[in-house]
Amino acid sequence: MERDWDTQADRDIQADWDIQADIVIVGFGAAGACAAIEAAEAGASVVVLDRFDGGGASALSGGVVYAGGGTAQQAEAGVTDTVDAMEAYLRLEVGDAVSAETLRRFCEQSPAMLTWLTDRGVPFEGSLCPVKTSYPTNRHYLYYSGSELSFADVAAPAPRGHRTKGTGTSGRVLFQRLAAAVRDRGVTVLPQTSATELIADNDGTVVGVACASLRDSPGWARTAHRLLHRMSRKPYLYAPKIGRLLHRPVAALERRYARPLLVGAARGVVLSAGGFVNDRRMLREHAPAYRGGLPLGTPGDDGSGIRLGTRAGAATGHLDRITVWRFLTPPSALLHGLLVDADGRRICDESRYGAAIGEAMITEHGGRAWLLIDRDVLALARRQLAAETLWFQRWQARYLLTFGRIADATLAGAARRAGIDPDGLATTVKEYNAGPPDPLGKPTGLMRPLTRPPYSLIDCSIRPRLAYPAPMLTLGGLAVDETTGQVRRTDGTAIPGLYAAGRSAVGICSSSYISGLSLADCVFSGRRAGLSAGLDAAASREV
Ligand SMILES: Cc1cc2nc3c(=O)[nH]c(=O)nc-3n(C[C@H](O)[C@H](O)[C@H](O)COP(=O)(O)OP(=O)(O)OC[C@H]3O[C@@H](n4cnc5c(N)ncnc54)[C@H](O)[C@@H]3O)c2cc1C
Repeated sequence: MERDWDTQADRDIQADWDIQADIVIVGFGAAGACAAIEAAEAGASVVVLDRFDGGGASALSGGVVYAGGGTAQQAEAGVTDTVDAMEAYLRLEVGDAVSAETLRRFCEQSPAMLTWLTDRGVPFEGSLCPVKTSYPTNRHYLYYSGSELSFADVAAPAPRGHRTKGTGTSGRVLFQRLAAAVRDRGVTVLPQTSATELIADNDGTVVGVACASLRDSPGWARTAHRLLHRMSRKPYLYAPKIGRLLHRPVAALERRYARPLLVGAARGVVLSAGGFVNDRRMLREHAPAYRGGLPLGTPGDDGSGIRLGTRAGAATGHLDRITVWRFLTPPSALLHGLLVDADGRRICDESRYGAAIGEAMITEHGGRAWLLIDRDVLALARRQLAAETLWFQRWQARYLLTFGRIADATLAGAARRAGIDPDGLATTVKEYNAGPPDPLGKPTGLMRPLTRPPYSLIDCSIRPRLAYPAPMLTLGGLAVDETTGQVRRTDGTAIPGLYAAGRSAVGICSSSYISGLSLADCVFSGRRAGLSAGLDAAASREV
């Protein structure tokens, strides 16, 4: 539906806004919702528009928010954490994505951020998960969601994955509560409305958004658009080919019935339209090595928010940073295994977060890896299946423990059948079985010798596979001023009236991701942009 706004003459009709507000927010996911709440609470009039009916990837997500430094939920679980420990660990993950001051601020504000969310209806709970997992079951809502335990010598580890309380993937609850808070504050939400171009005045200040909207289309077209989009959302995530097919009529309705709509923004526009994991051209251009992963996003993650900014002169950053997840757990017994490449060499500490494993596989081992386990580990993993998995993890774990592995009575036989160098594997296993300390840093408690045949090799390679996909997200976006969230030009100056947040912007997680860091950044950056724009609007009223 994206297209260029027709002519300069069209841009000049700024007096003829169809709708006008102080702040216009493009994209109604977690970042957009947080921006809307802050702007409205600062006293601004706010319009939020969304190509579909809102929610985006946020509503489909696991609802895990990375927070620490002593949150109420950590205290409830009896966990000790400090801002310093959180910062020391995140410094290792965050790299150069944001400045040291911004990271410090993020950590210092973290306990209050969780309180801010709970005050707006988002439920969390301090029920600590006893095992290392990629996502806890419905009994637990606080867990180690990164690689904290692997860096215990650098930063005191603490569980910081705060999963929104709700059954299944609870991003749905997170978004519903934020959306209710947005509506309670009198914000106007315009669904089925795509931003197609930013409108700037002669000084280059962004003053509005040109949109294509189904608002005035026949009722049946709006209903069909909404229902067909809802039907295609989940397949789009888990079986992208089917999802794309189902999404075609949605796009066709937009092309046929969407009409121009001009939305004026007296004090600012916030771009919070998600990332670009579903734009193949941008992926090929910026991250060609990341083929074979499963794009984790909605049709809205087509890079349109980022392009709106770049067409207005914005700089971008970290567009080459993709997070690819290769989770080995649950079941947690698989952490006793050894992840090796085609030469039989270890890839990394197997207990690290799935994104760190995926990154090591892609950048250093051509995306290929196998997990070696022995009879005892296999038996333990099978026993853990029911207790440690939710439905979407169970079918994947079952696949890994059955069709996804090859087994042999000898190590060399298993290696040959998998296509791995037997000598390399034998050397690796011998060194590992000699016991701790592990040169790659695996916690001693997870190390146990692999000596009991038959040996199994589970194929963990990153390639398109329905049963064991490797989900991926884009992390980079528009460059922003880290104090205000204003979008920056390539010369570093701010574009007046333009802000960005969430996965349309560079943020805390733009260098590397651990579970919860994207949503935490959406809340952090969304609030920052909404507050800056909102305060500006309030100040202009007082003048
Ligand atoms: C299955 C899944 C599980 C995940 N689990 C987690 C997790 O537990 N923790 C975590 O931190 N991260 C998780 N992530 C990642 C995280 O959900 C996203 O990175 C985050 O939600 C992005 O939020 P956002 O507000 O930037 O964008 P979104 O939530 O995607 O919202 C963007 C909105 O913009 C709209 N839009 C797009 N283009 C336009 C346009 N041109 N005009 C108008 N509207 C437009 C879209 O329709 C969409 O509603 C997960 C992602 C997925 C898909």
